[in-house]
Amino acid sequence: MFSVTTGLAIWCSEAMTLALLLLMAWRHNTRNKAYLLWSFGFLLSGAGFAMVALRGEIPNILSIEGGNAVALAGQSAWVAGFMALDRRKIEWWALLPPAIWLAGVFLPWVGGDYGNRVILYNLASATGATALAMAVATGNMRQERTRNKLAAVFVIQGVFCFAVALMMALTLPTDAQATNYGGVAAMVSAFLLTIAFALTCRMIMERSERHLRVLSLTDSLTGVWNRRGLFARFGAIQEKAFDEKRQVAVLLFDLDHFKRVNDRFGHQAGDAVLSAFALSARQFVPNHVFGRMGGEEFAAFATVADQTEAEALAESIRTEFCRLPISTGEAIVPATVSIGVAIASPIEANVDKMISAADRALYAAKGAGRNCSVIFGEKETAAPPPAKMDQNAGELVPTVDDQVEALRRMGSLSRAG
Ligand code: GH3
Ligand code: MG
Ligand code: MG
Repeated sequence: MFSVTTGLAIWCSEAMTLALLLLMAWRHNTRNKAYLLWSFGFLLSGAGFAMVALRGEIPNILSIEGGNAVALAGQSAWVAGFMALDRRKIEWWALLPPAIWLAGVFLPWVGGDYGNRVILYNLASATGATALAMAVATGNMRQERTRNKLAAVFVIQGVFCFAVALMMALTLPTDAQATNYGGVAAMVSAFLLTIAFALTCRMIMERSERHLRVLSLTDSLTGVWNRRGLFARFGAIQEKAFDEKRQVAVLLFDLDHFKRVNDRFGHQAGDAVLSAFALSARQFVPNHVFGRMGGEEFAAFATVADQTEAEALAESIRTEFCRLPISTGEAIVPATVSIGVAIASPIEANVDKMISAADRALYAAKGAGRNCSVIFGEKETAAPPPAKMDQNAGELVPTVDDQVEALRRMGSLSRAG
């Protein structure tokens, strides 16, 4: 009725098909070593069970000791595949399944007894399934829901193989009964492995979807959020401000005379300045809620206690960028930024209104001579935009240069007096 050889032959052909499929997937994207390792795992599993099925046709040492070790090495390759998928170092414990088999099978009371060999194989296989569950579970469980299911399938396989080994150790079955135990354990394992394969495919698909979603919200030149990605974060900032009884600040940045930078140093140098600014500014904004609005314009959303904190944030970004030496290889590119800031209470905060107010503040900063910040408090932010922009609106944050100049003037006035 139930032929172990037929079962093994079915598994061999399934394993070889999956090995080929995964090899093709790896050839499509050779950077992802996981596919190659999984393919290798199925190849080993198929080849190992083929050797086991050839018992009597080939020497026993190849069929029994060799075949089972090769099949268990397949589990090691799968464990390594899951580690490679998460770009983790491949751990030594991936090798435990064939190691346990080889450590036990040469003991005379194990190797010479069929029932004990089946027990040993199931113990090694249970260890392999546990290693698989561990390799899956140490990844990002929260973001990838399918991971939980996959880890659960491996846990079930581990528990099942262990239970078979335990039952056999307790009941001491005859060789014929041991064959049935081994056959059932192998069939259930193959069934669970097929489910695990399907879940792994789903996990990878979800991952690539997530990757594409992040790409669609990221600016390709600077790596910060694009306009859509940034705007999607406004709600969370507003909620946080509400919960923490703080205010919402919208900061708008525009690099000064950027056309001149391009004209003088070339477009590539311009791109380098954009990237340098994004990298530098992003680190000052809590949770990196910072993005590129387009061209040489950037924006950030933050919660602040008051106007002074917003000023401090804007000025830290501005002064750091002034100091940043951006080199084209031949020359240092001088670059500065003007900043417009709008503040509103979380109840009043509306992203379009605040961007529009920050834009007016930015216009005022440009009018005040550039390389400075202008802050609009709650009242100015709430006010409707004037028909004609007033370049003197808002509170200008004096730059270091302004302050030095003022001191110099005061000095010359006192000398004159
Ligand atoms: P202002 O101080 O008034 O802002 O002057 P500006 O020259 O910075 O402003 P303007 O809007 O006249 O010029 C913006 C320039 O930014 C023009 C455009 O060529 C350049 N630019 C926009 N996107 C990119 C980009 O991705 N890379 C480079 N290198 N330049 C860009
Ligand atoms: Mg501009
Ligand atoms: Mg500009």
